[in-house]
Order: sequence, then C-alpha cells, then structure tokens
Amino acid sequence: KRANQWRRWSEDVILRMIVPYLSYIQETVSLRHANMPAIRHRTGGECRTGCRTRSIKVACVFFDAFEEITIIACPCSPAPLQLLHCGFFPCAPVAPSLAVDLRLLEFVHLLFLRQSPNQTAWCDALETFLDGMKYKLRLKDSLRRRFSNAFHWYQVLTVLAQDHISTLVVGSRKDGAPVDQPSDYLRSRCPLCFGGNNWRNGTRDSLPMCVISYYATTSINHL
Ligand SMILES: [Zn+2]
Ligand SMILES: [Zn+2]
Repeated sequence: KRANQWRRWSEDVILRMIVPYLSYIQETVSLRHANMPAIRHRTGGECRTGCRTRSIKVACVFFDAFEEITIIACPCSPAPLQLLHCGFFPCAPVAPSLAVDLRLLEFVHLLFLRQSPNQTAWCDALETFLDGMKYKLRLKDSLRRRFSNAFHWYQVLTVLAQDHISTLVVGSRKDGAPVDQPSDYLRSRCPLCFGGNNWRNGTRDSLPMCVISYYATTSINHL
C-alpha cells in the first residue's frame, strides 16, 4: 500500500499540483493572504460531469487552530487539488484524513533548515499547544506520521515548482529570436502562463502578471 501511495504521489498527484500551487502562491501574494475565511471554505461541491464522488472528512491543522472539513472529491477534482485551493497540503494522495496549512509547512521547512529536523518534537509541541486551547485532535498518535507525509510531499512540490520555473526561464532564453507568441515548448510547460491567445498584448509589460516572472522577482527560494 505504501509503495502504491508513493507511486500515486510521484507519478500523478504531485505533478498535477505544480501549476495550481504556483498560482495559489501568486494569488495569495506568497501566502500572505492565504487562509482568508472566504478562501478557506471555497469548496466545489458536487461534480458537474457526473463521475463518482466521495465524501472525505479532513482534519485541517493550522498554527493556532484545528478544524474539520468535509470535501466532495472525484477523479476530476481530486482531494489534494481542492485542499491546495484552500491553502492546505494533504497527508495522502487519494483520501487524506489530515491536511496541513501551507504556511505551517513552510515555517517548519525553514526551521528545519536552521536546526536539526525533529518532527516528533515538533508534532508533540503542536499537539500540546492546540490541546491547551481545547482543540481535540482525534487522530492523536498518528499525527506525526501524517504530518511527516504531508511535509515530505510538500517539499517535493516546492522543489518541482522551483524547477518548473527555472526550466521556463532557461527555455525562454534559448528561444532568442524576437517573440510573437510563446513557443510551443513554453506553452506545453505552463498553460497557465502562456496559454492565452492575447499573450502579446502589451508584450513584455504584461509578463509581470505571469507566475514565472513573479517568481523571478520574489524571494521564495527553496534551492
Ligand atoms: Zn468529477
Ligand atoms: Zn507557469
């Protein structure tokens, strides 16, 4: 099961999360405006294309709170992508029981770059902290394992996202010649940034709106 889940993450889910992650980062100004109540409850509801749906209860962990939400997932709207749109990263690729606030994950990531990583201590402190505020985590003993899954794949996602941007930047330099339309290469790499037909309106002045150049000028740098 573990190997299966790993394959699910690495061959499918994590790859589908790259562009949505980058646009979420851009949308929230590098997580500054993440987790606004309106964003938090932006769930899709029933699938419109009529595929088989599945209701999943997810325990969401924040810095200072713990909240249980229910999402309706289906193959075209998988749980990880829905959670990502609300600012969370799930502990499992298909039916996650726990999701962690992206800010919290980013904080732990930065902390573990500066001191020796200790997820057990970190999870224990978090649990005690939330418990002190009378938040009851029902999946107590397995918080650490779930957290560490979420944390691992979150880090993979940030590296892949960084990589996605670098490839785009290198790719666009190679093109050299004056640009009428983004190359097929760029379009295939990132439909979000280069899929539009009126890409050329305003030429380079319009680029700062694109995720890539946004990244080129912000300081989130995981590498
Ligand atoms: Zn569907
Ligand atoms: Zn992009």
